[in-house]
Amino acid sequence: MLEASYLPFNLPEIGEEEIGAVVETMRSGWLTTGARTAAFERDFEAYTGARHALALNSCTAALHLALAALGVGPGDEVITTPLTFCSTVHAIVHTGASPVLADVDETGNIDPASVAARITPRTKVLLPVHLAGLPCRMEELWELARRHGLRVVEDAAHAVGTYYRGRHLGADGASASDAVAYSFYATKNLTTGEGGMVTTNRPELLARMKALALHGLNRDAWNRYGEKGTWFYQVLEAGFKYNLSDLQAAIGVEQLKKIERFTERRRELAERYQRAFAGMPEVECPPEAVDGRHAWHLYILRLRPERLAIGRDAFLNELRERRIGISVHFIPVPLHPVYEGLGAAYPCPRAVALYERMFSLPLYPAMTEGQVDRVAGAVGEIVERWRR
Ligand SMILES: *Cc1c(COP(=O)(O)O)cnc(C)c1O
Repeated sequence: MLEASYLPFNLPEIGEEEIGAVVETMRSGWLTTGARTAAFERDFEAYTGARHALALNSCTAALHLALAALGVGPGDEVITTPLTFCSTVHAIVHTGASPVLADVDETGNIDPASVAARITPRTKVLLPVHLAGLPCRMEELWELARRHGLRVVEDAAHAVGTYYRGRHLGADGASASDAVAYSFYATKNLTTGEGGMVTTNRPELLARMKALALHGLNRDAWNRYGEKGTWFYQVLEAGFKYNLSDLQAAIGVEQLKKIERFTERRRELAERYQRAFAGMPEVECPPEAVDGRHAWHLYILRLRPERLAIGRDAFLNELRERRIGISVHFIPVPLHPVYEGLGAAYPCPRAVALYERMFSLPLYPAMTEGQVDRVAGAVGEIVERWRR
């Protein structure tokens, strides 16, 4: 028998257009932040409907920058979810503020009721994460923010292409958030290898983020002649180094042209998984978007431990034996040694319970229907063997 080939958990979707754009940029003589980055920002504004987009070198940078520009610092509290990548919390810590965890609801996204219970006079920002690309219950979070005078920064690392109530996240006129942060890391729905973007509808917040993103300079590095026409720049404060290069932006411009096609393909494949697992009572399908469009960055399947004589980790080993790449999104924040204390201060039992029975299956545009069927078939086989 032929051994099945290894099915990677993720593959980036890079075409000749992206390769050509990088080569052209390399030949242009301008590699760092310049015209291509500006074009990527304008295209991203047009795509999302946000008034302003600022390209950055990661989503982590975007989160930290947005918080810093909002004046978040020591003594402040920022409420976020335990089901996120560590960098969401690192970004809070690096401002000097204290992270506060609120538990998730059954979707895996932050639960507004748990957020409400953890608001204190020190709370300054709500930082929801759209897990897997499923939109959070934003209206309820905005209502809490209005009532308590809080800012809202969204971690949209999984959510390029996500709609909330018919519009992109952060769309002008449809969003009460201050800023939305995107990731273009290699595994994300849109990639520039490494990269990120922050959008806002507030011009003064954009200006603040722009200044802080590039060392606190008073002018863009590529236009040191400024308005007066003489070569000069000044450093007004100790800023960060968060700008995106034109090499990466060139990739982003091409990726953005294809993102709707990618999203549609992800949806088709996710629906194929949903159909395959609908008749399997030992597993539970991920929730669909009820209030928008799911970007299907991840397909997170859940086990029903009461119906299975196998635990999640052993289940994953069986998938690995069948040469299928998997991942878990995420190990809850308080289970990492560095954030142990947060678990004691802010228990999140629903996040921990969900974590113990969930894992992510391969899902990316280059996958074939046959590969989805192979993964679903492998899950079915394991379930068959360990059903109780
Ligand atoms: C990937 C990811 C980030 C970090 O993105 P980078 O661009 O790598 O900094 C932040 N939050 C979540 C939820 C992520 O999945």
